[in-house]
Amino acid sequence: MTDTAEQNPEPARIRVHGLEKSFGDQKVLRGIDFESRRGTSTVLLGPSGSGKTTVLRSLNVLDTPDRGVIGIDDVEVDFATLPAGKAGRRESNRLRAQSGMVFQAHNLFPHRTVLENIVEGPVVAQGRPREEAVADARVLLDQVGLGDRGDAYPFQLSGGQQQRVGIARALALKPRVVLFDEPTSALDPELVGEVLAVIKDLATQDWTTVIVTHEIRFAEQVADHVLFLDGGVIVEQGPSAQVIGDPVEDRTRRFLKRIL
Ligand code: ADP
Repeated sequence: MTDTAEQNPEPARIRVHGLEKSFGDQKVLRGIDFESRRGTSTVLLGPSGSGKTTVLRSLNVLDTPDRGVIGIDDVEVDFATLPAGKAGRRESNRLRAQSGMVFQAHNLFPHRTVLENIVEGPVVAQGRPREEAVADARVLLDQVGLGDRGDAYPFQLSGGQQQRVGIARALALKPRVVLFDEPTSALDPELVGEVLAVIKDLATQDWTTVIVTHEIRFAEQVADHVLFLDGGVIVEQGPSAQVIGDPVEDRTRRFLKRIL
């Protein structure tokens, strides 16, 4: 939950300053600044095309910002001075490893069991001992309510269950930050609730999360901090009770009116 600077003098877990990104001629991010403290949930709201997913993909360096600084825990990258070639890739990879991304649609390996899907990253990418990774995966499966489905194949699960496996898989890498990119937008409406419940559960634990969602009621319940984006800038940010409950800016009010 949110701490004030006095109660919590440690540096913010996520630090984003002056983030800019263009695709061709289109400037998509025009100077994004925010910080998130450890154990908090930050929700990005805003109209389609406002730049929310690009912010999230920049944190995971799936998109490389043109300028700006991103720091996650003790890894910080200044993209204006990121060296070309191998050295730059090494820095980007270090930053990427700090966060785990949950995408709109799960992308599980279809021919591997649920458990094998979760264990793959820790064992292959992180070189962790298999038995340890399996034991951790079982705990994570319990946590997402699928403790008895470790031996199932993805096709035997509902879309909501598959998405919960996707969440367990992201957590298995023990990232400093978990990023959710519209995690329920590809699901049938009746499956949305079970996935949101799992994310809400994580958010109330010690995980630090950044979530792009259109589920405004969910955002209101889960977010410690809300960023409202429009046209590649943060128009308004603050506690959810303020930004969603009592927005100051016209653009925020109009957006909320449209979707509520
Ligand atoms: P949001 O998540 O708020 O809907 P996005 O960050 O996905 O917004 O996109 C912001 C703008 O950037 C959109 O106009 C989108 O078309 C454009 N965009 C995003 N990714 C790419 C890309 N890889 N190539 C070209 N344009 C992109």
